[in-house]
Amino acid sequence: MFAPYFFFLLILAYLYPAEAHPRPRIPPNKVKTHSHSRRLQPAEISAPSLAPNLTAQLSSLPFDLGPSLPPARNTSLTQLSREEIPSRCLAFFNAPGSTSATTECVDTPEANGTLQLTAWDVTYEDCGALQPWRICHCGQAEMSLDTAIDRLARVPVGLRRFVGLVMVQPLNPLGDDPSDNTPRAYTELESGEIHFFGDAQVDTWVHESSHAFDFSNYSSPISNSTGWQSAIAADTCTTDTYAQSNRIEDFAQMTVTLVYALLHSNHTPPGLTVSCMQNQFDFVQGLAAYAPEMLFGNTCDLGDEDGEGNGARHTEAPATLDATRTFSIVPLDPSSTAIKTEERARNGERGNQSRFSWAMYSIGLLLLYVGN
Ligand SMILES: [Zn+2]
Repeated sequence: MFAPYFFFLLILAYLYPAEAHPRPRIPPNKVKTHSHSRRLQPAEISAPSLAPNLTAQLSSLPFDLGPSLPPARNTSLTQLSREEIPSRCLAFFNAPGSTSATTECVDTPEANGTLQLTAWDVTYEDCGALQPWRICHCGQAEMSLDTAIDRLARVPVGLRRFVGLVMVQPLNPLGDDPSDNTPRAYTELESGEIHFFGDAQVDTWVHESSHAFDFSNYSSPISNSTGWQSAIAADTCTTDTYAQSNRIEDFAQMTVTLVYALLHSNHTPPGLTVSCMQNQFDFVQGLAAYAPEMLFGNTCDLGDEDGEGNGARHTEAPATLDATRTFSIVPLDPSSTAIKTEERARNGERGNQSRFSWAMYSIGLLLLYVGN
């Protein structure tokens, strides 16, 4: 007579295997301390802090999405001529000795007539045939052009398609604050233009890209929607201290957390529990643009019938897409032999779908057994 209960326990053990695998501990040197300083825009000046209504679970998000996100191969890279360098990039570029508040990159006398500022058009295997991404790279930037191309390539195409002009700048162009060594970035919300300073990691790229998505319908940003604000009001915590800044940063950090969860069989990052931020997590997870097949769909030609993706800036897919490009679900504990048979999510298909189906089938069997 105990057989059904034993069977049920077996199903529970299968559904929640993480309890059997201790969460990987992040070594101290892997804890990132990046920040996302950004220029305040009129739309967000009035956005109030979420503290103390929402407590921060962590001081910062303790993971790097980079290794979990395979880069899309870049299919073309073209340098723009000096005359073609976008005026927006020149607006932040100045002669030596300039102290302009907008200076983010400074020319150097030793460059012998070669500008420190270069501009490039890049396309990827999943997007950009007619609308390349444009990257302005400052010669003194800590992040090389190759690294910037790779990091942009790792931003899921469903978010990358919203990114406007990208600028890669040095941490301290004027040399006036050598202690300023924290990589950071900001996004011009209306244009989706992103400025990176220093060696900003992939989760910063995802964070900023989500700002570009959030404000892609500039007059009606998602982070200003009733749904998002209601979710915040119904919860008691958020991810980290930076997310407490306001509902816009909260949306961006929740996006980074969702991308982590989608890549890790729906497990949240170490140190984060969902229950106290369930409404916010459910909100971002419910966005059509954040469905795995949209985020990781291997193409930027996504249709977007619901209108959410209307502001995408890159929607032209190449004529031929690599249908074999897949995203792996990353094991929670890389040292565990139990999860060596890595589940693969083809084009974003939920990797734990088969596990869920198996469990539902088992529950069905259990009900049949009990019913008899
Ligand atoms: Zn931000």
